[in-house]
Amino acid sequence: MRITVAIDGPAGAGKSTIAKMVGNKFNLMYINTGAMYRAITLKAMEMKISSNNIQALCNLIDRLEMHFENNKLILNGENVEDKITMPIISQNVSEYAAVPEVREKLVFLQRKMSERYNVIMDGRDIGTVVLKDAPFKFYLTASPEERANRRYTELKNKNLDVQYNKILEEIKERDYIDSNRKINPLRKAEDAIEIDTTNLTIEEVINKICSHISKQLYKK
Ligand code: C5P
Repeated sequence: MRITVAIDGPAGAGKSTIAKMVGNKFNLMYINTGAMYRAITLKAMEMKISSNNIQALCNLIDRLEMHFENNKLILNGENVEDKITMPIISQNVSEYAAVPEVREKLVFLQRKMSERYNVIMDGRDIGTVVLKDAPFKFYLTASPEERANRRYTELKNKNLDVQYNKILEEIKERDYIDSNRKINPLRKAEDAIEIDTTNLTIEEVINKICSHISKQLYKK
């Protein structure tokens, strides 16, 4: 049976942690679309390609091979997880992700992945654009302060020298750019179930999502 799950929401709402665990439970391939936008940003910055050099960005994307192994993005054969989660990438990714040509190419790749596998995909435009027909859609939110707190703890645990206030500022700025861009902005799909995770544990969120999916599956 085809199972497709779309999870959207702002940065730090808990999407990736939750998507990985729900994916394990239902044997779905986890596709982290934020990692794909981050990978483009990483390579573009390494090659000093600015976000307004559309032709160079398109050529770059056409030369990249991306796939997921054990929930990690493999870019031209390299596991780039550590590089793409660095603060410098978080600070620049929304600018590259707002380029319509970049989105068009990545949405195409994401849809191709969903045709080959049963997937759980997280991002900003999954329920509204990439997998509009997905039978299971969730929209995760949390207050900006709680989201900044989670990011701060995550980066501190990686021994990175980070400041809470800077992270909060960056999260608010990313929310603004992601929600206000012209093409495929961050918003809740009309048929998505919204879960505010501010005062919930990861287990509580996972239980809500899994019980909803199980109920629907067993109904059929
Ligand atoms: O999910 P994550 O925070 O890693 O995403 C990084 C950035 O990639 C987001 O802030 C957003 O600018 C962009 N993104 C997007 N559409 C998606 C996934 C991520 O624009 N489907």
